[in-house]
Amino acid sequence: MSTGLPRNYAAPISPADDLPGASAERAGDALHAILTVDLGRMADNYRLLAARAPRARIGAVVKANGYGLGMEGIAPALYACGCRDYFVADAEEGLALRRVLADARIYVLNGPGADSLQLFARRRLIPVLNTLDQIALWAGFARGGPQLAAALHVDTGMTRLGLAAEELAVLAHEPERLSGFPIACIVSHLACSDEPDHPLNAQQLAAFRAACAQLPPAPTCLSNSGGVFLDSNYHGDIIRGGGSLFGLAALEDGPNPAAQVLKLEAPILQVRHVDSPMTVGYGATYRVAGPGRIATIPVGYADGYMRSLSNRGSAFLGGIRIPVVGRVSMDLTTFDVSAVPEALARPGAMIELFGDTHTVDDLAEEAGTIGHVIMAGLGRRIVRRYVNGLESV
Ligand SMILES: *Cc1c(COP(=O)(O)O)cnc(C)c1O
Repeated sequence: MSTGLPRNYAAPISPADDLPGASAERAGDALHAILTVDLGRMADNYRLLAARAPRARIGAVVKANGYGLGMEGIAPALYACGCRDYFVADAEEGLALRRVLADARIYVLNGPGADSLQLFARRRLIPVLNTLDQIALWAGFARGGPQLAAALHVDTGMTRLGLAAEELAVLAHEPERLSGFPIACIVSHLACSDEPDHPLNAQQLAAFRAACAQLPPAPTCLSNSGGVFLDSNYHGDIIRGGGSLFGLAALEDGPNPAAQVLKLEAPILQVRHVDSPMTVGYGATYRVAGPGRIATIPVGYADGYMRSLSNRGSAFLGGIRIPVVGRVSMDLTTFDVSAVPEALARPGAMIELFGDTHTVDDLAEEAGTIGHVIMAGLGRRIVRRYVNGLESV
């Protein structure tokens, strides 16, 4: 379908944008969901990982906008904890992080592309080289120039990214492929670190050690959050801490030693009093039988409040658990607040979607997913607030 507009068409600025003060103009936060990120508890979790892996540097994985928390909001707080190693997915994220952290080591997990090499050099981003092609690309770029460090990723059982055993053998035979640039660290990734007894953990550790023996000596970087809770053989020199820093459980079973960092609240927009039998929401999937009250909040699946929470999720209001009723819509979700005193369930009252008692992991379970998915999906309309940073303690 053609619009008749040229490619790269940009709409002309409308006269409304010339209003005085337009550049500073924003809507208020009153009718928005608010994500509160407790930087003090995040620092506690950083220290928890440091205590579990005392010989390693604790790095932070802040990909996907810092697991949805706002990378710019959390990275400086991690830096204040002493974190100097940061992992992002792509060069764009690396660039955004460099703007807030001038001298941290920033590793780009997806590696370099032919059109991003200059950016890597200019912004001192460290590519994680995953394939022989990426190694050749980087070596060709770095050769003869300044010392441009890169990390090497060896696959030991994820079968996702990283050099396969045959490719390692090629490198061992032709070490000149690695000449011309320093190796910042050797990376691999555990597939089952959340299940300490899974046999793949030990297999991956053995494969990792064998791979490192074939490569030039370099710091090792094997463990994500779960790996920190395995024995110290898994820790190596640099940890890639993700979920645990932000309060997610690193292990499938057992208590979660990490502190809860997050609270997501949303204001009630409207309360509907229902006294005759009615249905709620798209598809009329929920039937209100008797008299009751239905509260609507301005959060839906476009904000990451997943549609699978329809008629399954729960939240808290005034310390009382309230169920999601009806289907989650794009921008709105409905709760049965009949059990909450009317004085508490009023427009403007804040419903806690997750927090200390009903954690992100708990909500994820109701949604049939994991906490990482809920966090990474937190949408742009949600206001992010950072509390208990260094300034305020
Ligand atoms: C996302 C990611 C991590 C962090 O994992 P968590 O389980 O959240 O700690 C570590 N390493 C790699 C390669 C990743 O992609």
